[in-house]
Amino acid sequence: MVANIYKRILATSSILAIGLLSCNVSAKKNADIKLVLQITVDGLRADLLNRYQKNFTEGGFRYLLDEGVVYTNAHYQHANTETIVGHATLATGATPSVHGMVGNVWYDREAGELAYNIEDSDAPIIPTRELVVAGEQVDPTQKLSRTKGRSPEAIMAATFSDGLAVYHAGRSKIFGISGKDRSAVAMAGHVGKAFWYSTDTGDMVTSKYYYDGYPEWVTDWNALRKAEKYAGTSWQLLNEKSTYLLAGQDDRPYEADLKGYGRVFPHPFGGINDKLFPTRLLVSPAGDQLLLDFAKSLISAEQLGQDDVPDYLSVSFSAVDAVNHFFGPSSLENEDVVLQLDRTLAELFRYIDKTVGLKNTLIVLSADHGMADMPEYMTEQGYKVGRIKQEDIIQAANDAGRNQFGIDEVVRFFFRPSLYLDEQKIAKTKYEQVEVERAIATAISEIDGIALAVPSGGYSTIQDVPAVSQVKRNFHPSRSGDIYIAQQPYWFMFESGPIAVMHGSPWSYDTHVPIIFAGAGIKAQKVQRLVHPVDVSPTIAALLGMTPPANANGSVLIELPVAK
Ligand SMILES: [Zn+2]
Repeated sequence: MVANIYKRILATSSILAIGLLSCNVSAKKNADIKLVLQITVDGLRADLLNRYQKNFTEGGFRYLLDEGVVYTNAHYQHANTETIVGHATLATGATPSVHGMVGNVWYDREAGELAYNIEDSDAPIIPTRELVVAGEQVDPTQKLSRTKGRSPEAIMAATFSDGLAVYHAGRSKIFGISGKDRSAVAMAGHVGKAFWYSTDTGDMVTSKYYYDGYPEWVTDWNALRKAEKYAGTSWQLLNEKSTYLLAGQDDRPYEADLKGYGRVFPHPFGGINDKLFPTRLLVSPAGDQLLLDFAKSLISAEQLGQDDVPDYLSVSFSAVDAVNHFFGPSSLENEDVVLQLDRTLAELFRYIDKTVGLKNTLIVLSADHGMADMPEYMTEQGYKVGRIKQEDIIQAANDAGRNQFGIDEVVRFFFRPSLYLDEQKIAKTKYEQVEVERAIATAISEIDGIALAVPSGGYSTIQDVPAVSQVKRNFHPSRSGDIYIAQQPYWFMFESGPIAVMHGSPWSYDTHVPIIFAGAGIKAQKVQRLVHPVDVSPTIAALLGMTPPANANGSVLIELPVAK
């Protein structure tokens, strides 16, 4: 429904825009920005750029770090630092309490099931092949999705890209692409087009929300079966092993093995008939290289940046996050995937320089969240932490419900970080829900490794620590649980999939991300003041002389030049 409203606005705005153009308002934008390229590196904690920069090549990250305005102290302000939450925040300039994307999944109280953030049964994925092989998903949240349909309908706020479409009366071309569906969909907004990598087939797919059938160039790209060229090969180190800072961090017992992918280099992808083959590509630099190849085809086929109306392309690279989950952010694999992404970015920038011109391209780079190191690695370093079991949390809650209120099995549903209580059972007792929430939260907070258990009805009774404000900014009444649970720093909250480490905490290793603006006449500068990813889309809008996205609560970053 939300999207339909935007489509209607867009239809009526073409009439408005004729008026705007005639009084030359559209000329009020910075330099000659023909293309906004928004890059989001999934899971790129800000300090990784510092750690690896001596081995960066020319023209990749170094172009951004040397030529751009670099914010070194940017932090998310919400608690649940997950992919859709970060992407929707970057896209809308709003907090999750406003855009409603409170987590990769939430419990649909009415339906009584878990909902995946962008699932939409009315928008099925358009098949690319006759036979779709059912692949085994690496991402546990994908397994929890009820339907294969995908759309931005559940995003409750307008994105920068929506605003761009409206401002230019539908003449801006708008695309979001990624290794992950949710990253592509969030950035494309309600009006743009999204494509993402299918871990079933290795193809780039979209849904009926965007198209009735594939554009010819996408069919052609998929027909080349580029993913299959990696069959039977391995992920190899880019450079001589001894040149890596983390050369000694390859074989560690707490890394996860993706069924034969192994813990040490080289990591074999397997053959095309191996169900996990397309997934393994995503857990390697190959996933980003395929996305680069698709981006080049898109820029060429859709002629991005070739006229005076600025176009928008969001490219969300997913491999760093996937590699982090299996091998951790302090692994040889992490160092290599970031170095190889650096080369991928350099090639993307070279291509854009040839086709659009970097001087005409505003590049904005950030990340959707950071990453924790594994509890076992931390313990090895002398910082003793552990893993928290889901069953222990549920049991503590149910015990408190039974012992203090006489309610049998008070927990209706739990998926980190949200615990949902059985409201009907509570209503049958003489107790208020808020009383029950507080007592259960107290019981949960006594478990080893738990930092906070915040009852949604009882914020006023909670100690006023900054993380509670992050929980509040993450709260949406119909989607969030009754109790928000956060682990102590570096403790691992449970995961059902075969992964080694997780992000999603309110702590700085998960909130600290790079924010860099480069190109389009921007002068180099390093900025250490505290800024936030909600500031990104209002700043892009300001650079183009536009109003911030409708629901944005971020500020325009003052180090960037004012639109002329
Ligand atoms: Zn992740």
